Amino acid sequence: MKNNGTVMTEVLAQSNKPAEPSKDQSSHGTRKTYLKVDAKFPFCKGCGHHHITHAVNDALAKLKLPPEHINIVSDIGCIGLVDALFDGPHTFHTTHGRSTAFAAGVEIADSILADSALKNVVIIGDGGAMIGLLHLVNAAQLNVDVTVVLYNNFLFGMTGGQNSSFSPMDFVTATTPKGNIIPPIDIITLLEGANAGFLARKTATDHDLADTISDAIAHPGFALVEVLELCTEYALRGNSIRGNKLAEIYPGKVVELGVVKNSAERRSFGEVYKEKFPGEKMTKSPTVLTPRYENSLEKKIGVIIAGTAGERVQSSAYMLAEVAVISGANATQKNDNPVTQGSGFSLSEVVLSRQDIFYTGIEIPDVVVAASEDGLKEMESQGVFARTGPDSLIIADESVTVPVCAGRIMKLSLRRKYLPAGAAFAGILTAMKLTGVLPMLAFQDVAAKQKRSAELLSIIENVVGNE
Ligand code: SF4
Ligand SMILES: [Mg+2]
Repeated sequence: MKNNGTVMTEVLAQSNKPAEPSKDQSSHGTRKTYLKVDAKFPFCKGCGHHHITHAVNDALAKLKLPPEHINIVSDIGCIGLVDALFDGPHTFHTTHGRSTAFAAGVEIADSILADSALKNVVIIGDGGAMIGLLHLVNAAQLNVDVTVVLYNNFLFGMTGGQNSSFSPMDFVTATTPKGNIIPPIDIITLLEGANAGFLARKTATDHDLADTISDAIAHPGFALVEVLELCTEYALRGNSIRGNKLAEIYPGKVVELGVVKNSAERRSFGEVYKEKFPGEKMTKSPTVLTPRYENSLEKKIGVIIAGTAGERVQSSAYMLAEVAVISGANATQKNDNPVTQGSGFSLSEVVLSRQDIFYTGIEIPDVVVAASEDGLKEMESQGVFARTGPDSLIIADESVTVPVCAGRIMKLSLRRKYLPAGAAFAGILTAMKLTGVLPMLAFQDVAAKQKRSAELLSIIENVVGNE
């Protein structure tokens, strides 16, 4: 991607590479088609998806966009098969209803971090629009440069013709065999309320559909074109409506077709952001941990640490994982706490290994640290003690009663000596000193970089000094 920098390269690492010029491409940037030369449309005979997909392609060709500047994001449903038909543009296939959110994310990255060269086109059905409705509202509110082509055939075609939120009154579907009785969503009115700049409603066979879609794509902000069509497989069975009468699909009213709104009054999210926060990037550099110590791990070990919320249990577990990584090992961490973040228990499971870790669960824990009664109770209810073996080391605060189990129990004055906020860290440190798998120097290294470094270094000095 030209001049787009590393971030977009990463974001689109899985997407299609720009294609070599094909027979249909007279030169770079002036393609006649973005569809594969031998594209085989998978849709049922007569399905409106054929027309709309060709119109999307024609709209792109009309705009003469270089393929690498086009990002097509498809949703679930029969229309989700379009990705494979295109040749050249980047394509993403997403989960149901989330295509608009994916496209909005790509567009925000492109507009803030790169050169805003991408044009994002979302291909979504009425089922996806129903499931991901708030993503459409949000994209319109943000005014990201995303064009949504909504293939509205008033039902879920792929899954058997069920009713959608877009089904007209009286519409017969698999789930409304006597006709729909719930008024449909008017997506145009809804998105007008969310300040969308470009809104249009067309039918699949409109001769100027491609022109409308190209105007939408050219619009420098959020745009949506709702295209009415029929699912020939399911809509024709119980309904008398036919493709040439789609403007009459809503009982009692004739749909107004065409561009409903075309206003570039609002600036796009990227423009506003860059003006408001010049020079700021929306990214945080990832922390790179460089191995600089040796570990003595002979096998994968699982450490379960539990205590009371707010007493640094999970941050202590994170330090253990960090120590392992800077000692040349791999580490995973899984945290658990009740819905209420600041009360009750706090628990972490850390797996350490020289090898890649593909399974992050701990069946027989090698080390268990019970820093408080809250933590002990939670581990008890999760069956942690019942899963210990003769080689399991259990470090527990003196205040708790460890249930009878197979592991070796060591009671220590963690809370009294190191205070509640230092209990988990002191327990971890003691266990690592006893097992000898990670160097204490690495703990000092990590502790020295923490905000509470003085407190942590003093705990290390105490624990290591008590050998
Ligand atoms: S099931 Fe319906 S929507 Fe799907 S391809 Fe066939 S006609 Fe089109
Ligand atoms: Mg549908």
